[in-house]
Parts: sequence; C-alpha cells; structure tokens
Amino acid sequence: MEKRAKIQGYDVDLMTFDEVIFECLDSIKNNKVVHLETINPEIIQQAKKNPVLKKVLHEAEIVTPDGVGIQIALKLKGISQEKVTGVDLSYRMLDECEKAGIPVALIGAKPEILNLATQNIKTKHPNINIVCTNDGYFSDFSPIIDKIVNSGAKFILCAMGAPKQELFIYELKKRMQCGVMIGVGGTFDVFSGCVKLAPEIYRKLGLEWLYRTIKQPERFKRIFPTLPIFFFQSIIDSIVSKD
Ligand code: UDP
Repeated sequence: MEKRAKIQGYDVDLMTFDEVIFECLDSIKNNKVVHLETINPEIIQQAKKNPVLKKVLHEAEIVTPDGVGIQIALKLKGISQEKVTGVDLSYRMLDECEKAGIPVALIGAKPEILNLATQNIKTKHPNINIVCTNDGYFSDFSPIIDKIVNSGAKFILCAMGAPKQELFIYELKKRMQCGVMIGVGGTFDVFSGCVKLAPEIYRKLGLEWLYRTIKQPERFKRIFPTLPIFFFQSIIDSIVSKD
C-alpha cells in the first residue's frame, strides 16, 4: 500500500487516480475485500459525532480525497495530492468491469433515477454484467446484503449519501468473500442525466461545491458552518499534529 497522510486523525491515501484503479482491479483479481472510501470534509465532521462512522472510516482499506476540501487540508501539511472522486472512479471502474467481465451491483438513489442510470450505463457499456440493482430507500440492510451476496457481484457502487452508504458497506463487507465497494453519494443522479456535473472550469478551479450549491441551494445548510469549522480545525491540525 502507498503512503498515507492524516487529516485531523483521519487517514487519506496519497495515491494517484491510476494507482487506485490498479489497486481495485488487483484486489478483485486476488479475492480481497476492499471498502474504498471517498472522503470529504462533511464526512469527517459527521464522524467526529458518530463513533460507528469513525470506526468504519478507520477500517476502510483505501481512502481517497473526494474534492478540494481534503486537498486544501493536505496542502496545509505541505502535501500535494490529486483528487480521486467517487464519480470519476465510478466512470473508470465501470469501463474496467466491462472489459474484464467483472460482475457489478448498483445500489442507491430513487427507483426511477436508478432505472435511468442503469439504462444509461448499459447503453454506454453494452457488454457490462450488471447482476444486481436496488434503490437506496430501505432501512433493513439484511435482505439487500443477501441479494448482493447471492448475485455474485464483485464491484459494488453504493450511492445512498453519507453516512448511510458507509454504514451499509461496513455490514456488507462482513459478508463478502471478495469485492470492491465504493460509496459514491449522488453519482447515480449524474448517471441518470437528472443532475449535471459541474462544468470543467468549476472542476478545474475546485469549485464544484459552489456549482452544486447554486443549482441546489438547499445544500447550503450542509456546507455552512461545516466547511468553515473543518478548515479552521485543519489549520490548527497542521500546526499541532505530528502526523
Ligand atoms: N439516497 C438514497 N437513500 C437514502 C437517502 C438518499 O439512496 O436513504 C440517495 C439520494 O437519492 C441521492 C444520493 O443518495 O441519489 C445522495 O446524494 P447526495 O447529493 O446527498 O450525496 P453526496 O454526493 O453529496 O454525498
């Protein structure tokens, strides 16, 4: 495994996008079970108040920076690290799964969004082997976990938002013999075509969060005051922490 850094006590792997993809494919090939967490400031702030989520994050096999917030926190420690986001990983891994014949499960989002996303994925990847789909609006994890395990899926995208997707992956992980599981938030909304990815200029400037907040103003309460508090604590962390 490559080098890791710590942000306020939470691990982040310092891997390139291609290294992460290699690690995922290699893990599937070698029958390993991997929870890949794409971490962001909101999840870290939630974990500080939720001991179970904290444990889940600490036990994730791979943790990648989902956006500019984590990049800035790393920069404060003198570390330059590229973003490795859930949506980019999903696009590339679906491509790789199609090529390698890896069975895929898509779990999350509203039923009609999931249907649209599944159709669009099948159109883009005509040879993909999607063995299991389920919307994300369930409270009893057990039957959905049974369904995934019985399907033989080895690459599982969980798009239920944090912390539900992390807690679900943690339970699923206990039952999997082999496979890579990634929590990818609102990625199926993007795949369905109902939500647009931020234009390239916003992505380049690290302002996806601004674009998403302009498009969905109700998201403002998710980033304020969470983000300013996270950055203030990251500055303190970069001064006092020895990690
Ligand atoms: N969602 C779900 N189950 C739930 C709550 C939410 O499947 O119980 C879905 C929701 O429909 C959306 C995604 O989870 O597709 C969360 O998107 P959000 O934009 O909040 O995630 P982010 O990308 O910000 O983590």
